[in-house]
Amino acid sequence: MTRCESLETVRQWGLKPPKTLTIAITAACNLACQHCWVEAGLLPVSAHVPTRSLMRIIKEFAALGGEGLRITGGEPLCHPHVLNILQSSRALGFKAIILQTNAMLLKDEHLTALHELEFPGLSIQVSLDGATADTHDLVRGKGAFDGALSGLVKLVQYGLAGRITLFLTEMRHNLEDIPALLEFAERMGISSFNSGALVQCGRAVGDTAAVPPDSAQYLKLLERYDTDPRFRELYRKIGRIAALEWRTGETVRHEHCTFVENPYLTPSGVLYPCLLCHTGDFSVSGVFDKGFAAALAEGAPAWSSLLQISRSRTDTINECHDCPLKPCCGGGCMGRAWGSRGDLVAADDRCEVRQAIYRYGCNCRY
Ligand code: SF4
Ligand code: SF4
Ligand code: SF4
Repeated sequence: MTRCESLETVRQWGLKPPKTLTIAITAACNLACQHCWVEAGLLPVSAHVPTRSLMRIIKEFAALGGEGLRITGGEPLCHPHVLNILQSSRALGFKAIILQTNAMLLKDEHLTALHELEFPGLSIQVSLDGATADTHDLVRGKGAFDGALSGLVKLVQYGLAGRITLFLTEMRHNLEDIPALLEFAERMGISSFNSGALVQCGRAVGDTAAVPPDSAQYLKLLERYDTDPRFRELYRKIGRIAALEWRTGETVRHEHCTFVENPYLTPSGVLYPCLLCHTGDFSVSGVFDKGFAAALAEGAPAWSSLLQISRSRTDTINECHDCPLKPCCGGGCMGRAWGSRGDLVAADDRCEVRQAIYRYGCNCRY
């Protein structure tokens, strides 16, 4: 299968060629967070994907016209060759490389190498699940907050503040920390703050402190945005939170899932059509042996039918039939519906929150 044939197959099945690949370079992590949906933790060296296998895939992806590479794990810094992977990827002409990390393992050699990459497209996404040790460590474990803070301070000292994105997983116990985190980011000169709703799968189910925020908490956040000029100013400068964006209408969806623009490759070599849709029936395994182009061509027919399911969701899901949010929500995220409910044609776990925000006063113009 040549690269051209692979892209042709993708297009013939009505799919979009891959733009940003999320690649997990290891299943290992120095933490074992309660909300970890990939269930990473302390694992033997065999949890790291061999560098040669990774670079083969990354090179193929670049040759297919890939523009962005998101390096994740587990914790990517656990991988002994993470710097080689970053440096080699930098040379492949990507517009953006995103390194997702908990920042606890950053050593001088990492910081020097990141600095010397001199890559305007580099983004270092540091997970910070609270503005205090109490909130952050509740799901990440004792000492995680101090470790993350120390990593952040080092990144700033190495002149990388402008490359940092703070990332918070929205949970019941930490949503109220967002204004304080924006202040913290501003003080540190950090360029952006993003958050994403807890993904309810992996370790984030069952008996865990990782619980999604409720609608009342989101409404309180919206009220804060409406009434607190300082919060609004900082948010507009560096923030991005889906619940606040929904109100502006800037995230109005004109289409459903965008397969396979943003595929996700796990450390065990399973390729999914996006980061959140992990259904075994719609995946390709053995990708490190088959290669990326061949895997794309193999997955295209299944992903095309998944796209059809995504397009029909608002007609199929009972709750959506009379919902005024239907044109902009599109039935929510099919992957989240699968993760939280095990059903591709159920409303996702954010449905209630979206409806509450709509009732509060959504400005979405559709
Ligand atoms: S959430 Fe991130 S830091 Fe925590 S165990 Fe999972 S991979 Fe590691
Ligand atoms: S399943 Fe969700 S994350 Fe994946 S493409 Fe569809 S809407 Fe996006
Ligand atoms: S808010 Fe809920 S009911 Fe309304 S369209 Fe979205 S998923 Fe369907």
